[in-house]
Amino acid sequence: MGLHKLGLQGVTHIIAEMPFVLSLDEGTTSARAVLYNEQGERLGMHSVPFESLYPYPGWVEQDATAIWRAQMDAASAMLLQQKVAPGDIAACGITNQRETVVVWDRRTGQPIAPAIVWQCRRTADYCAELARSANGELIANKTGLVIDAYFSGSKIRWILENVPDAPQRARDGEILFGNIDTWLIWKLTNGAVHVTDYTNASRTMLMDLATGEWDSDLLNIFDVPRAMLPSIVPSCGRVGIIAPELFGAEIPISGIAGDQQAALAGQACFRPGLSKNTYGTGCFALTHAGDRQPHSTHRLLATRAASLGAKPQFAVEGSVFVAGAVIQWLRDSLGLISTAAESEAVASSVADTGGVHVVPAFVGLGAPHWDSRARGLISGLTRSSGRGQIVRAALESIAFQSGELIDAMEADSGEPITELRVDGGAAVNNFLMQFQADILGKPVIRPADVETTALGAAYLAGIAEKVWSGTDEVESFWRVERTFEPQMSEADRQDRVQGWKAAVARARLD
Ligand code: ADP
Repeated sequence: MGLHKLGLQGVTHIIAEMPFVLSLDEGTTSARAVLYNEQGERLGMHSVPFESLYPYPGWVEQDATAIWRAQMDAASAMLLQQKVAPGDIAACGITNQRETVVVWDRRTGQPIAPAIVWQCRRTADYCAELARSANGELIANKTGLVIDAYFSGSKIRWILENVPDAPQRARDGEILFGNIDTWLIWKLTNGAVHVTDYTNASRTMLMDLATGEWDSDLLNIFDVPRAMLPSIVPSCGRVGIIAPELFGAEIPISGIAGDQQAALAGQACFRPGLSKNTYGTGCFALTHAGDRQPHSTHRLLATRAASLGAKPQFAVEGSVFVAGAVIQWLRDSLGLISTAAESEAVASSVADTGGVHVVPAFVGLGAPHWDSRARGLISGLTRSSGRGQIVRAALESIAFQSGELIDAMEADSGEPITELRVDGGAAVNNFLMQFQADILGKPVIRPADVETTALGAAYLAGIAEKVWSGTDEVESFWRVERTFEPQMSEADRQDRVQGWKAAVARARLD
């Protein structure tokens, strides 16, 4: 990686002593590097895509070394573009696609198998069996998670079972496990630091959510040796220094959070009851739960939120599997629109859906249903249903599904959620945001900077390095771009939600 250093040599900073904050945002399809100034303003961003491999139906793999290279290329290109001297970067935050598993050789730094991506379903049968077993309840109680192939535990087990000698080498500490945060930090520190943070660890299915420690019972169930696991550290605080030969300066790594928890921080949701929803391929809604561990009775996940002090912080989380992806389906499979953005004008060209519902249960339904056998449908068609109604119903389905998550969160906590902060690619759709506000009966707030994942990691790192004094200061950076106030009557809202529920009931097989 000497090349990166070379590329940056000779760059002199334009404003002396300006403390910049660098965020490395490693997503599912690309690695991004984002730079912020002292006012929390985004100065520049560079993104480098990398491949996913689908060797068998339901399997999703990535090359961890390619991810590392993409992340380094993104950072180098961004620093060159911005003409920033690496020595002026006061802090680096890391945020990452969660649950994805990398196992590598401690000596060579080479992965021993392709990374198993969070979407990969190869351990689905094992997890279904585990959920039915005597251990099912123990796992759910200790981790706050719903037993599923999505989380890391069964993926680590799979690698250990399928790579020769791996179990013994793991017990001997010769091979190491990490989610992508851990892998990047290990590489950035030349193998000196093997850590993860509470938010990422809470998605492995190996951590006791209450204590924040790797749990012996869970490690036994998944056959994961403790010697291969990283230490768990707070999300805000210095964990190591980027090796100077990489960028030509010693940059402290001081913030870590899984992407959704980073987005919660980037939306300045640091207090109980504050909620955000990210509208991407799927939707991820999180509500901050403060220092009280939530116990969901509505099939939501309990997870760690990024904490700034010693006290653990929690969140409840729900996800919708198919959200923006239904718009891609309208475009690529049905040809009803030519761009995702066109969905807004087409939906607005009709007054309503005329009773049409699209239930995009292409891969089953996520929270709160957790029904992997449900399949998609379009219901309520009449002779007058056409393109406008179907496109509108598809956009509405994103809001209805997100509404179910927010309803479940309110039912769980008994506390009303007063507003929803939004981000993600589909949050630019004004029709969708207005309909979301209507169907929730709550304001929907879109911030000026919707790159909230990278921003959250920057906040954590910048606070740790005293670039910012704390959450109050970073909250003051957060700016509203637009608020969508609910306009629908309560009777109309109820009526539409009932219509949606009836359509979902039809999509379910159970
Ligand atoms: P991810 O991070 O999951 O890749 P993004 O946050 O980049 O997703 O958002 C991309 C998704 O948003 C796609 O599924 C796309 O269909 C959807 N999308 C993008 N623009 C719009 C729009 N104007 N209206 C509705 N959906 C949109």
